[in-house]
Amino acid sequence: MSERIDPALPKAELHLHLEGAAPPAFIRGLAKEKSIDIAGIFDEHGGYAYRDFWHFLEVYEAACTTLQTPEDFRRLTLAVLEDRAADGVVYAETFVSPDFCGGGDLVAWREYLQAITEAADEAERTMGITLKGIVTPIRHFGPEKSRPIAQCAAETKGHFITGFGIAGDEKAFHPKDFTWAFDCAREAGLRLTAHAGEWGGAQSVRDALDHLKVERIGHGVQSIDDLALVDRLAEDGITLEVCPGSNVVLGVYPDFASHPIARLREREVKVTISTDDPPFFHTTLVKEYEELARVFGWTEEDFRAMNADAMRAAFCDAATRDRILKIIEGSA
Ligand SMILES: [Zn+2]
Repeated sequence: MSERIDPALPKAELHLHLEGAAPPAFIRGLAKEKSIDIAGIFDEHGGYAYRDFWHFLEVYEAACTTLQTPEDFRRLTLAVLEDRAADGVVYAETFVSPDFCGGGDLVAWREYLQAITEAADEAERTMGITLKGIVTPIRHFGPEKSRPIAQCAAETKGHFITGFGIAGDEKAFHPKDFTWAFDCAREAGLRLTAHAGEWGGAQSVRDALDHLKVERIGHGVQSIDDLALVDRLAEDGITLEVCPGSNVVLGVYPDFASHPIARLREREVKVTISTDDPPFFHTTLVKEYEELARVFGWTEEDFRAMNADAMRAAFCDAATRDRILKIIEGSA
């Protein structure tokens, strides 16, 4: 019998796509206001509908077509943070892409960013949730397009934008094609992460570490097939942003029981738990914790330890980290 996990347990979530966390009702409302026909992306219950990972990317991009102005992103950020706060999240990092916010133009990006930051500040005051942003080019848009995105990130590094990463189809291009963008972000003082080892095998994680010199890996779960790599992750303190429900829904693993998160943790890799694109995967962070507790017998003590690890790997200033760590550790 597994321990009941208090849904209000304070949580830190490091891997969340802002547009991917958009509540479907919010996107439907925007589509209606703008007379955009995207009825085909919803199922009969009003949730997002897609066949597989590549179709998921198409549906995702179709949903994004409703997000056209800084004001849309201000409202989106508030809607997303309301959901996260309801999950007990006290600290979140979200991927934001200038590709979807002004098409990579710096002047436009600043306007979008101001709107997103305003919403984050409001949510911090009213909901007690802190949000930081990680700029991500979209991998399958190609290396050329990643350059202006990296420049947008470098120019706007600050209180809100603290990290740089890469998202999208892991099988498109090679990490070494994006070294210019990552070098640009690193030189600007941004912290680095990259999606790898979700669809790509263990080698894709090695490539992200070797070529992009990241300190965290988004997913990274396929590292389990290469135990020398697993030991390297543990020894170097590379934190994995693991999204078990996302992996199961997209078919990377058939179920939670065969998901490697527990085996990675047993080998002392720092694993953290996130939802990736929660409404797309019909999940919440509370549901993820419940399922992990049920399948692996994890307790609130285990989750507190993983949340503390998440904060130690968080892309935030020391004062924010220490403040949130007190909330997480003080919940014992
Ligand atoms: Zn992701």
